[in-house]
Amino acid sequence: MRLTILPVLTCCLVGSSLQASAQQTSKPEPPTTLRAPSRAELLRGEYGRYRANNDLLHYDLDVRIDPDKKWIGGKNTVRFKMLKDDTRIQLELYANLHIDRITAPLKGVPYDLQYSRDVNTVYIDFPETLRSGRTYSIEFHYSGHPLEVGRFDALAFKKDPAGGHWINTANEGVGSSVWWPSKDQWRDEPDGMDIRVAVPNPLINVSNGRFMSKTDLGDGYTKWHYRVHYPINSYNVSVNIANYVHFGETMGDLTLDYYVLPANLEKAKKQFAQVRPMIEAFEKYFGEYPFTKDGFKLIEVPYSGMEHQSAVTYGNRFANGYLERDWTGVGVSLKFDFIIIHESAHEWFGNAVSAAEQSDMWIQEGFATYLECLYVEHVFGYDDALKYANGYKSKIGNKEPIIVQRGLARDPNQDMYFKGALFLHTLRSVVNDEKKWFKLIRDLYDQFKYKNSMTEEIVAFVNKELGQDLTPVFDQYLRRTALPVLELTFNDAEKLVWYRWRADERDFAMPIRVGDPAKWQTIQPSVDWKSMPWAASKESFKVATDLYYVNVAVLDAAGRPLPK
Ligand SMILES: [Zn+2]
Repeated sequence: MRLTILPVLTCCLVGSSLQASAQQTSKPEPPTTLRAPSRAELLRGEYGRYRANNDLLHYDLDVRIDPDKKWIGGKNTVRFKMLKDDTRIQLELYANLHIDRITAPLKGVPYDLQYSRDVNTVYIDFPETLRSGRTYSIEFHYSGHPLEVGRFDALAFKKDPAGGHWINTANEGVGSSVWWPSKDQWRDEPDGMDIRVAVPNPLINVSNGRFMSKTDLGDGYTKWHYRVHYPINSYNVSVNIANYVHFGETMGDLTLDYYVLPANLEKAKKQFAQVRPMIEAFEKYFGEYPFTKDGFKLIEVPYSGMEHQSAVTYGNRFANGYLERDWTGVGVSLKFDFIIIHESAHEWFGNAVSAAEQSDMWIQEGFATYLECLYVEHVFGYDDALKYANGYKSKIGNKEPIIVQRGLARDPNQDMYFKGALFLHTLRSVVNDEKKWFKLIRDLYDQFKYKNSMTEEIVAFVNKELGQDLTPVFDQYLRRTALPVLELTFNDAEKLVWYRWRADERDFAMPIRVGDPAKWQTIQPSVDWKSMPWAASKESFKVATDLYYVNVAVLDAAGRPLPK
């Protein structure tokens, strides 16, 4: 009996657990803004007292990477200025990595500092009060085996197709502290940085900034030294280790350096010809490449790509489109290499102009995606750019706001890319003056470059430059879930069309072009009903929805307000 019953029972249990897991996997993930934050996201997200009490001046990261042991060790010398008297500062290093010692010089001798750890956060205590206005420095020694986590595995120890070591970092979202001790937040950047990475011969390392030197350490390792001459987001700091081959070119004072696996050299020489027109396009709109002292690099990696400042990483298979796909599905994407254009656009928006908090990451991604459209416009013309921008509509969810809760180390949902770009596209139509629009975005870039800013500052700048208050428009697109809906109702007897915006923002008012596409009329709808003459048919009344990202609803007679 037992023998016959048991298999049946087991079978049922297996069956039900399979069903349960199938249900679990088919259930959609809750939107990121609705998920309860983890302690790590709170600790890393909040710009609290022990971060706000100091201002980063410089990092000198000096590490050794052992590919066979998948190990990293070394130190980061952190120089900072105190903004308030205090005895403690906050840095981050993932909990799995070992802190060897943290020291500060005391009368010229390294003094061991006390510290405590809470998840990935490290609080460092000083034996005496650090004084506001004074500059200090500490050495943070660490070692261990970094976690391969996140979208691109953070610090990933991989092999190239020829069997050689291929080690790359990409840790936006996961945080810089996944592989090096740092003030792992977005608000405060050091004014510059030195990156020194020792790797086994004959591997080479390519990092951000200007190559300074390589030193044979005599123990089978060579130390590669790069210097970053500008502020840099900590998540942008990158190492790229492989048997790379190098080629390059120059554009005036700007050096363009390319590092690829030997097998891909010829393909790269062909594909990377797109770098020069890309730089020309963005320089036309926004002025000089922002990191000339460091140069521009494109470095082959095993993942799709990342905007590492002055060391953009590339894994787009040396082909046009995005991983060989027509990314926006309207026949434009296959005309250019998505990764070269998108990731390099971040040099202007993301790296030069940066959000001060992860919650406002649309400043990075919405602008970079819009810059793709500007690139298309510059190289292929306005009609392609219009098609390309509207191709992004199919990728938008409109399920949660673009700007998410502040104080959390967590990425907003992907509407920040596509809806962010279409919002800027819409804003251009709102301005409805090409000269004014291009001046506005150029001035905005100049105003915010090399700074970390919040959306409120950008909105205030735009309002001031345009001399009108567009705050409700920004708020509807960035802080609300739903698109504004242009509601229309036709009164054939009176030959009128009534219109208004349905929006969450009570003061939402946005001009829009309607009527006959051959001679658009710009109307000024608000959330109150207004009317305009329309003698032609309901069907011939059009709304310029390729210029404004909005929804349109035609209401029946019951939706129309009573005539006065
Ligand atoms: Zn991006």
